[in-house]
Amino acid sequence: MNNVLASAPAAPLRVVDVIRKKRDGRELSRAEIELLVEGYTRGEIPDYQVAAWLMAGVLRGFTRQETAALTEVMLHSGEVLDLSEFSPKKVDKHSTGGVGDKTSLVLAPLVAAGGLLVPMISGRGLGHTGGTLDKLESIPGFNVHLSLREFRRVLRGCGCSMIGQTEEIAPADRKLYALRDVTGTVESPYLICASIMSKKLAEGIDALLLDVKTGRGAFMKSEEQAELLAELMVETGERMGKRVVALITDMDQPLGHKVGNALEVAEVLEILHGNGPGDLRQLCLELAAWMFELGGACDGLSEGRKTAAQLIDSGRALEKFREMVELQGGDPSVLDHPAKLPRASLSGEVLSTTEGYITSIECEAIGTAGVILGGGRERKEDSVDPSVGIVLHKKVGDAVRREEPLATLHYNAESRAASARGLIEQSYEISEAPPAEVRPLVLRVIQGSGGY
Ligand code: URA
Repeated sequence: MNNVLASAPAAPLRVVDVIRKKRDGRELSRAEIELLVEGYTRGEIPDYQVAAWLMAGVLRGFTRQETAALTEVMLHSGEVLDLSEFSPKKVDKHSTGGVGDKTSLVLAPLVAAGGLLVPMISGRGLGHTGGTLDKLESIPGFNVHLSLREFRRVLRGCGCSMIGQTEEIAPADRKLYALRDVTGTVESPYLICASIMSKKLAEGIDALLLDVKTGRGAFMKSEEQAELLAELMVETGERMGKRVVALITDMDQPLGHKVGNALEVAEVLEILHGNGPGDLRQLCLELAAWMFELGGACDGLSEGRKTAAQLIDSGRALEKFREMVELQGGDPSVLDHPAKLPRASLSGEVLSTTEGYITSIECEAIGTAGVILGGGRERKEDSVDPSVGIVLHKKVGDAVRREEPLATLHYNAESRAASARGLIEQSYEISEAPPAEVRPLVLRVIQGSGGY
């Protein structure tokens, strides 16, 4: 009699077991990650199971190997673009998300005007942060849902194009991103790394600049968390043979003065017309300089900053934006007449109840106020109201008198405005003395071992 037991066939992998394994803090194999991500992308696994797994991941974290596997599985859930038909270097930038962060809308045309190709695949608002696609869609007619053929046509026409994820590009991220937005599962450096790098690596770029936000309005509140995220993304990019640099930048207070989709487009136009808030212009010049440097289009950062300033001040960046808007079906007359952007029917000021200096602004609360007004999503299926938002009249370090406006709310529903107003009132901290220091915009630069 044969006393060797025939080995039992391997039990099939079950989604619930993968969720439990992550819940218990154990490392998942690539096959387990594939089971979840591929099954979800194909529509075979329901939202509630993936939401449970995501929450377990946020609480337990992921290892470097899991993060690498997750990024690769998400990247290969769709097509990886080949843009080798274009001779200029292909460079993109991506932000980890902030409040009032509209730099992408300035950078795509600005850097294309400087001779590089900018194929930009962006996201929608996430949590309390705004999204590039939602902002672009406030331009009447602007189409972010281009097929890859049309994307190429726009790139050929003007050197930059800004679109959302198609079915073809990282579809896994598209679904997971929407689910994370409404299940409190955004704030994980590992999930953010996989989300950003899967879509960026699918773009067929040579180099990538990452703007990793830190502070009260960022997903990564501490500089240490932001550094971990930056390192994860730089490492992932390098492993895939790309030049990647991450700037850790301040998001302790909103960037610029305007928060809300159409309002932010209006502020982008101010910048492209050579005006606009100083912090926003300065960050755009810095990011553009790094993109020029990564794409070999300047000899050092200081030349890059000068080139960027000239491209804005000469109107060439604005003209490039006009070309892109036209090629993507938008109404280009908005560029000279921002009053044509969607406008909320009502507005109201939030007044200061005291006199002094603004020492801090609860930046996440400002972003949440924007979502409550209707500028972001509370549920996956919600649509956004492009016209609502907040204009901040006072920022950190500014002096304020009693009864002076701190901010103006633009809204379409009184009930929403009441809650948003409460949040904004509480988010300003005013003291007798000015703050000892205002944080610099760029806190650190993280580069890979290859110098990039
Ligand atoms: N931006 C993204 O694209 N994904 C995230 O998870 C966070 C910010």
